[in-house]
Amino acid sequence: MKIEIAENAGFCYGVMRAIEIANRALKEYKSLYSFGPIIHNPQVVEEYEKKGLKVIETLDEADGPVLIRSHGVPPKVYEDIEKRGLKVIDATCPFVKEAQRYAKQLYDEGYKVVIFGDNEHPEVKAHLGYTNYTASVINSPKTAASIKASRVGVVCQTTQSVERFGLTIGELAKRIRELKVFNTICDATEKRQEAAKELAKRSDIMIVIGGKNSANTRKLYEICKENSRNAYHIETEIELEKNWFDGIENIGITAGASTPSYIIERVYKAIRDIVNG
Ligand code: SF4
Repeated sequence: MKIEIAENAGFCYGVMRAIEIANRALKEYKSLYSFGPIIHNPQVVEEYEKKGLKVIETLDEADGPVLIRSHGVPPKVYEDIEKRGLKVIDATCPFVKEAQRYAKQLYDEGYKVVIFGDNEHPEVKAHLGYTNYTASVINSPKTAASIKASRVGVVCQTTQSVERFGLTIGELAKRIRELKVFNTICDATEKRQEAAKELAKRSDIMIVIGGKNSANTRKLYEICKENSRNAYHIETEIELEKNWFDGIENIGITAGASTPSYIIERVYKAIRDIVNG
């Protein structure tokens, strides 16, 4: 019986950095407010609530420094925080900031800005703000057909798939005369997905750890399901079931970008205890 953890499983650079920024701020301030959950992981959010980081959905709920999570926020949120005389603690991932800068640059240069990503994702909602809410959001080669302008500038949600992005750009290139593209995909996601795929191919079962509300974890789960005999998406070791491991030889584990290493460790140990009886 072999239990293997995929390379690049768990926290990415941007999430780790946001957690470190929150840790430092919690030492400095009595009350700290996170504009939306700091990461898409309920266990970590709960742990930080106990430490004094309160999740808010509107600025009316804040009366102390406001932490901006790694996904970033539109420019108006910074303005509103400052208008209220509150301090901004900015944990936006530098790679997300770069995409925001490109979105603004394209807008200022007069391009019709197109964001390749998921309409509902907070990172995309923030990018939209840097184009004064004029950008269009597309997420597939098919949806590229809806873009009619002659000068188009494209940026991408950092966690999108390179393959799908390439196909979509190909579609745009067929019809658009002037096309300027910033590939703002972050390779942390791609590396994690590739490693999970490789491990899934040689595993009988894949355990994918991460928040049920985490888009990148759900994507990892899909990849694992396609490439292994069986896959399960769990948040913590409590959800593991003994019968999943009956007659199994090779067990693979991976985890989304918002999963801390201590949760991965706990799942690993719980699986080891189950298989060792
Ligand atoms: S996935 Fe990449 S861009 Fe997104 S937070 Fe992590 S390091 Fe930053």
